[in-house]
Amino acid sequence: MPEIHELDAATVDRIAAGEIVERPASAVKELVENAIDADAGRVEVAVEAGGSDGIRVADDGVGMTRGEVERAVREHTTSKIRDVSDLESGVGTLGFRGEALHAIGAVSRLTVRTRPRGDRDDTDTEAAATGTELVVEGGEVGPVERVGCPAGTTVEVDDLFYNVPARRKYLKTEATEFAHVNRVVAGYALANPNTAVSLTHDGRETFATPGQGDLRGAMLAVYGREVAAGTVRVGGGGADPTTDAARTAARAADADPGGPLDGVCGLVSDPETTRSGSEYCNVYVNGRWVTARAVREAVVEAYGGQLAGDRYPFAALFLSVPAAEVDVNVHPRKREVRFADEAGVRRQVQRAVRTALLDAGFVRSSAPRG
Ligand code: ADP
Ligand code: MG
Repeated sequence: MPEIHELDAATVDRIAAGEIVERPASAVKELVENAIDADAGRVEVAVEAGGSDGIRVADDGVGMTRGEVERAVREHTTSKIRDVSDLESGVGTLGFRGEALHAIGAVSRLTVRTRPRGDRDDTDTEAAATGTELVVEGGEVGPVERVGCPAGTTVEVDDLFYNVPARRKYLKTEATEFAHVNRVVAGYALANPNTAVSLTHDGRETFATPGQGDLRGAMLAVYGREVAAGTVRVGGGGADPTTDAARTAARAADADPGGPLDGVCGLVSDPETTRSGSEYCNVYVNGRWVTARAVREAVVEAYGGQLAGDRYPFAALFLSVPAAEVDVNVHPRKREVRFADEAGVRRQVQRAVRTALLDAGFVRSSAPRG
């Protein structure tokens, strides 16, 4: 057996990057999360050839000064947490690990163009007046230049995995890779109806949400009129479930001393409007887009046997969960969450969805299955 030796930094980087960036959709996810964390009112995602040839995510968020963008592409750099105590008190942003930009830069040709927004112009007058462009190619940070650009940040990822041929070879067809991208962008668009989110593939617009704060409006843009028209509100006392006021109302309305959740609200489709496979059944835990099999099953159960075969409804369902009740496994690629009281979560979700379906006359009032 060869001697044990330390790996060089480039090799360590390459391995770590592969963990975070599995395929184009994982890069898109990280970039969209960054845009949302940056308080963007608008996020434009454009991909070429399913994302493997090019990804561009443009936002009108807070932007970065020259010094900030130089730090941002380095390893383990973040503006979102300071130390372990921040982790324990709960993280309010989607990101905090400080590895995405660095990882993407290690396996692609990455260009960041950014300019701080007007409300923070005092930070670096030169960068604020124009903007900064920084290029990273296969982990090598290239020249930093002053460029004219709008306030906010545009990140371009070209030739993903050009220096990791094995990974590039295992990418699926453009259609499949784009389906993954589409699912991710749709997931974030529905969670952020206050943000105008658009997705373009090879120059053709797939969808564009209005960003007016209305969840049904976002659903209409993402899934179409037919789906949106049949949706019913869950929780929130009939108010739009994405506003803070409605979340509070949902909490009061769903107050369930026995249940682990602080509230359940959102939109679900009528029993006729379904798809096989659960990918359109979006679940959010404390604002995070997650995979939660138990929740999806509870949603299906609420339809009381009215869904055919392996059909799932369209949904955007927001769960408010006390921190102690959930383990949001915040690994960039693992979206599955675990609940301390899974049976309780199931019951509460099923009851909330069931009530909404009954009120809408979509299901009969016999006892639900399961
Ligand atoms: P994380 O999101 O975990 O902090 P990233 O590598 O994704 O790590 O980003 C590093 C830092 O770069 C962020 O903490 C943020 O300060 C800055 N940043 C990244 N993307 C943007 C963006 N779109 N707008 C403003 N700042 C950004
Ligand atoms: Mg991030």
